Amino acid sequence: MKGKRVFVAGHRGMVGSAIVRRLASEDCEVLTVSRDRLDLLDQAGVRRWMADNKPDAVVMAAAKVGGILANDRFPVDFLQENLVVQSNVIESAFRSEVGKLLFLGSSCIYPKLAPQPIREDALLTGPLEPTNEWYAIAKIAGLKLCQAYQRQYGVDYISAMPANLYGPGDNFDLQSSHVVPALMRKAHALALSGGNNLEVWGSGTPRREFLHVDDAADALVWLLKNYAGDSHVNVGPGEDVTIAELAQAVASVAGVEATIAFDTTKPDGTPRKLMDVSQLFATGWRPRYALRSGLEQTYAWFLQHVEKGD
Ligand code: GDP
Repeated sequence: MKGKRVFVAGHRGMVGSAIVRRLASEDCEVLTVSRDRLDLLDQAGVRRWMADNKPDAVVMAAAKVGGILANDRFPVDFLQENLVVQSNVIESAFRSEVGKLLFLGSSCIYPKLAPQPIREDALLTGPLEPTNEWYAIAKIAGLKLCQAYQRQYGVDYISAMPANLYGPGDNFDLQSSHVVPALMRKAHALALSGGNNLEVWGSGTPRREFLHVDDAADALVWLLKNYAGDSHVNVGPGEDVTIAELAQAVASVAGVEATIAFDTTKPDGTPRKLMDVSQLFATGWRPRYALRSGLEQTYAWFLQHVEKGD
C-alpha cells in the first residue's frame, strides 16, 4: 500500500466510509469522488474519471443495499443498479490499467440451504433465498467478473463476502434498513417512551452472523495487502446468533427491559447463513469487536449522530 493511490468507490456508504477511516492509518493516498461529480451509473463518466485519476488500486464498496423488505420490494433497483455500477467500475479500472481491485459481495450469494458453516465453494450449488436473490445475482455476477478478469488478463481482482454488517454510518430507516439499526431505533423509542414492547419481524428463529463494519474494513484492507488467490473470501467472525437473541442484546444495550412481539406477517428470510471463515482466519486475521461491544459502540454512534439529526 505504501505510496499507492487507492480509489474507494462508495465512500459515503457505511462500508466505504469505514474503509476510508481504516486506510487513514496506511501510508497511501485515498481517492474519493462525490456523487455530484461522478455518477457510477454513467459508463463514459466512470471511464473518464478512472483514466484521469489512474489509481493503483480500487475498492468497490459502492452498491445499492437494503434490508429484507427493501430487497423484496425493489428488485429492479437491486439487480440493475448493482450490475451496472459494478461493471462500470471494474471494466473502467481494467481499461485504466489498475492492477489491484477488491470487490465486495455479501453472504447472501450462497444457496438458501447451503450446509453450515458455508464454505466458499458452496457458491452456485443450489437455489438462492428469494427475498434477496436480486441483490445476490448482481453480487455473484460481480465476483465472477473479477474472476474472469483474473483468468483472462492475469490482474489481481479479488472479492470478499462479508457477513451481515452493522455499525456507524448505517441506515436507520425502519422500512429499508437491516435488522441491527432497525432494532436499535425501535429499542431507543421504547427507552424514550418507557414502553417495553419490542416489535421484531418474523419468528425470531433465523440465525445471522454479524460483523462490525470497522472489523470488516480492517479485514478488507488486510486482504488487499495479503491476498491474491482466485477464490472469493468469506469475511466474518465465524459465529452467529438468533434474531431473538440479537433483539434481547440490543434492548439491553439501549437499557430497555423488552418483551418481544414477533410480527410473523414479515418474512424470516434465509434460516441461517453462517460462513466458514477458515480461509480468512488461516491468514491470521481476527475481528476485534464481540457482538455486545460492537452494539454498544454503534448505539453510542446512533445517539450522537442519528438522534441528534446530523
Ligand atoms: P437479511 O439478512 O438479508 O435477511 O437482512 P435483514 O437484516 O433485513 O434481516 C435479518 C433478519 O432479521 C430477518 O429474519 C428479518 O425478518 C429479521 N428482522 C427482525 N426485525 C427486523 C426489522 O425491524 N428490520 C429488518 N430489516 N429485519 C428484521
